[in-house]
Amino acid sequence: MSEASERPKKEEEEEEVTAEPEEDSDDSSGEEAAGNTEMDFLRNLFSSTLGLGSPEKVLDDLTLEGVARYIKSGKCKNIICMVGAGISTSAGIPDFRSPETGLYANLQKYNLPYPEAIFQIDYFKKHPEPFFALARELYPGQFKPTICHYFMKLLKDKGHLRRCYSQNIDTLERVAGLEGEDLIEAHGTFFTSHCVSCSKEFNLDWMRDQIFSDDVPRCDGCSSLVKPDIVFFGENLPVRFFTSMKMDFPRCDLLIVMGTSLQVQPFAGLVGRVSKSCPRLLINMEKAGQADPMLGLLGFGGGMDFESDKAYRDVAHISTCDDGCLALAELLGWKEELTELVKKEHGRIDSQDKREKSKGAAANESSASEAPAAKKEE
Ligand SMILES: [Zn+2]
Repeated sequence: MSEASERPKKEEEEEEVTAEPEEDSDDSSGEEAAGNTEMDFLRNLFSSTLGLGSPEKVLDDLTLEGVARYIKSGKCKNIICMVGAGISTSAGIPDFRSPETGLYANLQKYNLPYPEAIFQIDYFKKHPEPFFALARELYPGQFKPTICHYFMKLLKDKGHLRRCYSQNIDTLERVAGLEGEDLIEAHGTFFTSHCVSCSKEFNLDWMRDQIFSDDVPRCDGCSSLVKPDIVFFGENLPVRFFTSMKMDFPRCDLLIVMGTSLQVQPFAGLVGRVSKSCPRLLINMEKAGQADPMLGLLGFGGGMDFESDKAYRDVAHISTCDDGCLALAELLGWKEELTELVKKEHGRIDSQDKREKSKGAAANESSASEAPAAKKEE
């Protein structure tokens, strides 16, 4: 089994805070552990379907204050963040998969058969130019992480973050200081790229140079197209998404969902994979993830419940992600630290940008005097 071979490194942490008893055998073989995880999932499913047992109420109050008290209590060690485009909008990044943002309307100049084609793998392989033109316009390096990104970095520094599951491809989590191990980039990332034929890997610096050179990126080994490792329509999610999910969610002490309307599967379904007692905090401009009433009747719960008589663990904080994180940081006594971190890091990125721009201008001057190289396109 593939999940057996990839056990997350965070396994050695103690498990005693998980609300539901688990026969956890961390010293057993990986395969057995994966089996246990399946059992946890089935147990959760059955107990919620059959209404067995009453879940423990972990939060003393279904508010941001209640969540903050829980985080400070010392019982909340494994926080999972699930984030979407809403955490990057204050960085100036449009939600460019969403048809409502108007970005698709700007794509007319590329003569696409239909707007979504720009992210479709088959179309891309034949006509990569529109995608790279868009990538130039929206290039990740031109943006700075938001307060929300740095809040997650603080969670990591303070030892609370088990993992961040992101739907974003802008790499801002990495810019803010989360590392590969901390992150599941469910829809891929610009951080690495691969040749579509020979699979040679290329890094972000190389891809950036290609994107700004006006040429379509080509492999220096076999001349085939090189594609950033983002998940196009028609491609599978990264294997690590599925393997990590099975290990992480049954052990989650607090789920923080930010900046996503929880409409894209399989990502949206993750909220139902934490234990029944695990509190879930949504910070978003609108409520999201609530159970479908029909499915609720059938007992296949797992959806968010913020306000019914039975609500016991879900908290909705309706605000921008930055405001929500600042409010939570204040309640945790971390506000000053957070604003300092943002100021320091933004200053660092600005000065780095300046250096690169002057370097780039110098390079352009010298290349302008040389004869342009022949383009290798069909
Ligand atoms: Zn190649």
